[in-house]
Amino acid sequence: MTDFDLIIVGGGLVGASLAVGLAARGQRVAVIEAVERSADHQPSYDDRTLVINAASLNILDNLGLLPADLARTPIRHIRISRAGGLGHLELDADDYEQDQFGAVIVARELGNVLLEAMTSSPGIRTFCPARLQGFEVHADRVEVTLEDGHSISTALLVGADGNRSRVRELAGLTCQQHDYRQSAMIFNIRPRHAPAHTAWERFTAEGPLALLPQPRGRLGVVWIEQSERIDQALNWSDEELCQRLKTRFGTGLGDFSKPGRRSRYPLVCQRTPWPVAERVMVVGNAANAVHPVSAQGFNLGLRDVGGLIDAIDGTSDPGEREVLHDYARARQSDQESTVRYTDTLARAFTNPSLVASLASGLGLAAHAGFPGLSRRLVRSAMGFREPVCTLARHPRVSP
Ligand SMILES: Cc1cc2nc3c(=O)[nH]c(=O)nc-3n(C[C@H](O)[C@H](O)[C@H](O)COP(=O)(O)OP(=O)(O)OC[C@H]3O[C@@H](n4cnc5c(N)ncnc54)[C@H](O)[C@@H]3O)c2cc1C
Repeated sequence: MTDFDLIIVGGGLVGASLAVGLAARGQRVAVIEAVERSADHQPSYDDRTLVINAASLNILDNLGLLPADLARTPIRHIRISRAGGLGHLELDADDYEQDQFGAVIVARELGNVLLEAMTSSPGIRTFCPARLQGFEVHADRVEVTLEDGHSISTALLVGADGNRSRVRELAGLTCQQHDYRQSAMIFNIRPRHAPAHTAWERFTAEGPLALLPQPRGRLGVVWIEQSERIDQALNWSDEELCQRLKTRFGTGLGDFSKPGRRSRYPLVCQRTPWPVAERVMVVGNAANAVHPVSAQGFNLGLRDVGGLIDAIDGTSDPGEREVLHDYARARQSDQESTVRYTDTLARAFTNPSLVASLASGLGLAAHAGFPGLSRRLVRSAMGFREPVCTLARHPRVSP
């Protein structure tokens, strides 16, 4: 008998959610996390404002990870525009018989909930701070070695260890990568006046800009541009930042003031077409990492979590080849189309050529003009992509 049913390397947003879900279904889970267990240190649990779509809210809720005191701001209106071009898209949840498209949650605050849930679950043992050294795959188990020399065995080893996944590398899983040479700068800010529950996405020649609703009338800003320009932007004074944001966004929300701390993230696209090997697999960013232009990364990772829990449900050996292949086949279309859609959006709106710029303007105009298209876009953006995992099927926020 193995020490654990599953060992998860990486206790970030995706790894921790998976651990909580598996332990609730009676699995014996170990989490190996490199960084000290505190939401102030954990790299996954930082100041990012995450747009959590409706399907993901269902998943988190069903995992018991949406307590009443977790601050979340519903998104009921979405405004998408393109600087100096054709196309303007307005989406209102009412028009789709929905209360909300999703909600904005700060990663650090969700991190606190995840840490609490992992600590209080008797089915989870956490090794932290600890790093994966290597592993050896046998017919019935995987022997995992930590850098401190500790050795533990499992039926299935899951890599949830982010973009530079060591598990993916050691398992020899093929991963296609593209460096956008762009970075995202995030901070929050106070607008002079902003309608409640509204998210804005503005496409400019320099790159996309998102403004997301937060508590107390503030907005979370995701500012994407070439990496060298973001390096400069990190050094602007607060006054210059507010002025430049107004120039880039337009005058619709009046003057901006009181910007918070700025953080920077280099942006890459990664795709692992077949994320499973013998008794080893990868989920979340370790498998597929996407540009934040469509706010899909964590949402995609949560659908991996839901898909894996469905695949393992009722099996005596979670590492069985059939289980892993069923999982990979069921997740393939969603993973493939989410990465492709996001990559197309990221490239189209930053390509300076006239053809690309015309096409993207017309694309927005088409979405705005044809309700059928918008409906498909909305259903997909809300995370209800076939096959919808059991945890996402919830009566509260339905497609
Ligand atoms: C600016 C920005 C905005 C975003 N906005 C959104 C959004 O609005 N909505 C959305 O859905 N997504 C968004 N994302 C994407 C989202 O943040 C990621 O998809 C998500 O954080 C991925 O989580 P993860 O757990 O897979 O990986 P990570 O967050 O990278 O966590 C990996 C964990 O593994 C640990 N680890 C790594 N290597 C080892 C090792 N060898 N041993 C042990 N532990 C290890 C790390 O310490 C870390 O805790 C955004 C991303 C960015 C950059």
